[in-house]
Amino acid sequence: MRTGQTHLFIPGPTNVPEKVRQAMNVPMQDMRAHDFGALTLPIFADLKRVFDTTTGTVFMFPGSGTGCWESAITNTLSPGDRVLMARHGQFSHLWVEMAERLGLAVDVIDVDWGHGAPADLFAEKLKADPAIRAVFVTHNETATGVTSDVAAVRGALDAANHDALLFVDGVSSVGCIPFRFDAWGVDLCVTGSQKGLMMPAGLGILCVSEKALEARKTARLPRAYFHWDDMLKTNATGHFTYTPPTQLFHGLRAALDLIFAEGLEAVFARHRRLATGVRRGVHAWGMTLCARDESLWSDTVSAIVVPEGVDANQVIRIGYDRYRTSFGSGLARLSGRVFRIGHLGDLNEVMCLAALASAEMALADAGARIELGSGVAAAQAWYRDATAAHALRLAAE
Ligand code: PLP
Repeated sequence: MRTGQTHLFIPGPTNVPEKVRQAMNVPMQDMRAHDFGALTLPIFADLKRVFDTTTGTVFMFPGSGTGCWESAITNTLSPGDRVLMARHGQFSHLWVEMAERLGLAVDVIDVDWGHGAPADLFAEKLKADPAIRAVFVTHNETATGVTSDVAAVRGALDAANHDALLFVDGVSSVGCIPFRFDAWGVDLCVTGSQKGLMMPAGLGILCVSEKALEARKTARLPRAYFHWDDMLKTNATGHFTYTPPTQLFHGLRAALDLIFAEGLEAVFARHRRLATGVRRGVHAWGMTLCARDESLWSDTVSAIVVPEGVDANQVIRIGYDRYRTSFGSGLARLSGRVFRIGHLGDLNEVMCLAALASAEMALADAGARIELGSGVAAAQAWYRDATAAHALRLAAE
């Protein structure tokens, strides 16, 4: 018999808070009732706050982030349209693949995995090619633990005086690290319920600018399930084109309440604090992150490069089997070379210390030369200072 809790440190799905789980334990209700909008309309409004937009339109589709990639593309673009993308990890790779499958002409900039979206190279391409219809950016590349500078990409578009749409994958960033839909001039942002929103998987969420909404009128890619027109008609009263996952809306209501009770900016600050502790731990082990430099470090996931001769997959397997801790695996070309600690969503300092403690044991068992307790001690030192400073700030407010 196994006692106590298991520990989830994959970068999504993330831990679902008890309040959110309880909120979903409700009877089924009539999704066509005249008052269904009392549940859903405030959720649409609050999601806009999470995206930091007053002008965007939010869609919620039963599905996941991948479905919203498809929704984004098919509603705004036409077969053969030229789009510009950087590939610097498995998720940006999959987005390229989807765009190609859907019949777009993708101009791919291949970047070393561990680097971010190259705003300077985007600027060059944009200056040279006025026909590009959209630029795609993976804000937080979950495979490598790299956060890209979306504002810099907007800067590249503006510097080239280019009117391409700016698409952003915010699946592992929205609700965790600052995301400024309006300020960054984003046209389309995709996310899912199962990461920063602390929910089970099942909702794909999209925020769309007026310009991107307008683009649907001339876009010619076929679309059906993810058609915005159908959703726009029914969403106006808080209803849906097809059967919506009502329980998930109840959960999302509770999750948004938790986020706003903490305060969105405080949520971002907590992610920074927790991530910094994890990184201090990793560096105390003498190991490095896949993200090449500090400016790229993700506050939601750390991809840790294991020492030569150690198999990261074994570290993950041992963590899971012996210590009941799930770490994220190295995806595609990073398989065996990195393991990932997801530090996003419903987490606190001591949970992150548990992740580091468990990782230390798994690393040592897998043959890494590591001083047990070294990463934990480094993170503890940081968390003590950081929580004391945080408490002082709260007292002063
Ligand atoms: N984009 C990023 C950055 C992701 O991390 C993921 C999933 O982990 C996806 C897209 C795909 O999202 P989903 O699994 O919700 O379809």
